[in-house]
Amino acid sequence: MSQKVLSYDLGGTKIAAGVIQKNGRIIDEIRIPSEFHRGKSAVLKTIVEIGNQFLSRHPDIKAVGIASAGPLDPIHGTLLSPTNFSTTKDEWKKVPIARILKTAFKRPTALENDAAAAVLAECWKGAGQKFKNVMVLTLGTGLGTGVICNGNLVRAGRQLHPEAGHIILNYQDRTARCGCGNFGCAEAYLSGKFFSRRTGLKLSRPGISGPEIAELARRKNPIALEAFDEYSTIMSVVLQNYIRLYAPEIVLLTGSFAAASDLFLPQTRTKLRVLLKQQKNGLQSLPKLGLSTLDNRAGLLGGAYVALSLLETIQK
Ligand SMILES: [Zn+2]
Repeated sequence: MSQKVLSYDLGGTKIAAGVIQKNGRIIDEIRIPSEFHRGKSAVLKTIVEIGNQFLSRHPDIKAVGIASAGPLDPIHGTLLSPTNFSTTKDEWKKVPIARILKTAFKRPTALENDAAAAVLAECWKGAGQKFKNVMVLTLGTGLGTGVICNGNLVRAGRQLHPEAGHIILNYQDRTARCGCGNFGCAEAYLSGKFFSRRTGLKLSRPGISGPEIAELARRKNPIALEAFDEYSTIMSVVLQNYIRLYAPEIVLLTGSFAAASDLFLPQTRTKLRVLLKQQKNGLQSLPKLGLSTLDNRAGLLGGAYVALSLLETIQK
């Protein structure tokens, strides 16, 4: 009998959940807007309700995995006021989400950062399968980074997830206010949300979406093209920094904004080559750059992967 787990992917814009078999097959799935403006209690209630619906259809679910935007503490299963969850009225603070769902569903439950989940999923079922050094960038509401080095998931100190999206590139840039409170973080330029916000100001079209800006660029709008040119420059600099730290063999992009990669990935590759070429033996560290092959389900599959790993640990 195939083991089944329930997985969540909690992001700033959407919540995905699904039932996944041990072989990685998704057999039931839902995707809804996160609607954090409804407040923490209402969103948590929705998360539990979704789970109960899946459990009524699949009572043989054995464990639960949650991939979530951070910051969070994966070991204790606690959300630490995720940057893109809070609203001005409602601060999330510490939420022991793994314990809440474990109590609600009476199943073992694990929490993992969504970008860490994504890189685990890429190495399990996606484009990272043949590599031992893989980095995933999730380009959505935020900029998430997940890294596997020498075959192991990279943690920061205190068993936390490395928040590499918040390395500051330009602390004086008042046009790039990040969700974390600082100015000039990589996320404040490279996440789909912040790219759209900054470009919307330049276009005098506040509220314009990433796909709409991409459409303008494809129709050769000069402001949109310039915005993507700046995006590829910043992306190449950020990748150079990540390459210095982690030496990935392959970097994979996922998240909703990765759909616009035709407008920045080739240019990023060229600019990254230039940056690395200037360094002694720098080109040797040039990784492959590509897209996730998991169809925006890397987080969901990664949640399943951590749930299955938890089951394995329990059954040992
Ligand atoms: Zn930040």
